[in-house]
Amino acid sequence: MSRLLRRLWTGLALLDARAFGLRVARCPFCGPTLFVRLNASDAGVRCLRCAASAVHLQLGAALRALVPDLALRDACELSAQGPLVEFLRRHARSVALSEYFSDVPPGGRRGTVRCEDVQRLTYADASFDLVMHSEVLEHVPDDTRALCELRRVLRPGGIMLFTVPLHGGERTVQRARLRAGELEHLCEPVYHADPLRRDTGILAFRDYGRDILDQVRAAGFAEAHLVRSGEGLPWLAPRDVVFARR
Ligand SMILES: [Zn+2]
Repeated sequence: MSRLLRRLWTGLALLDARAFGLRVARCPFCGPTLFVRLNASDAGVRCLRCAASAVHLQLGAALRALVPDLALRDACELSAQGPLVEFLRRHARSVALSEYFSDVPPGGRRGTVRCEDVQRLTYADASFDLVMHSEVLEHVPDDTRALCELRRVLRPGGIMLFTVPLHGGERTVQRARLRAGELEHLCEPVYHADPLRRDTGILAFRDYGRDILDQVRAAGFAEAHLVRSGEGLPWLAPRDVVFARR
């Protein structure tokens, strides 16, 4: 199916005519443009030009506000398509893109797309000035190891900017874990929608609390903050994005 048809199909599946709306506002990736609301949830809001979803709009707004010197930065993003990727391609000095495929060795490729496992990245130490990821870490069995890897590939002073679902409380709730390679559920399993795994979705290993900042600092980052991002995006409440510096 072509990308346009798939977009249209996804849009129709989400549509609730009572909540439908159009508004002019500034997209962090496209500038002033039209936004559509297909239903009353955050998932129903999109930039009509680049199709950025709520989470990408909020992360994009943080990127624009917090990384003004993007053109001087070698960036790494743990996905390979979408409006954030296109923006990084246009504005960063360079960008390394990847997806995680369980059946491709890290560093290998499926077609043109590089495979990376954030728990054992194949990039050299100190390769990047910016690493970004969005709604990834909650799906990673060993997120502590992932954070150490993300720090390793950053240059000193480099920035990590990312989103995870935050439940608003202090403590992270572990939902599942791997023990000796076996998956163990500690709560009712929750699967998030994933464009690469449309049929099954992807398991959430945890719901993060504000203590994720302690975890980021424990992985060796010099600073870590929650930054409220996305003021002025139509229909969307601003959300917290994690900003960290090596
Ligand atoms: Zn846009």
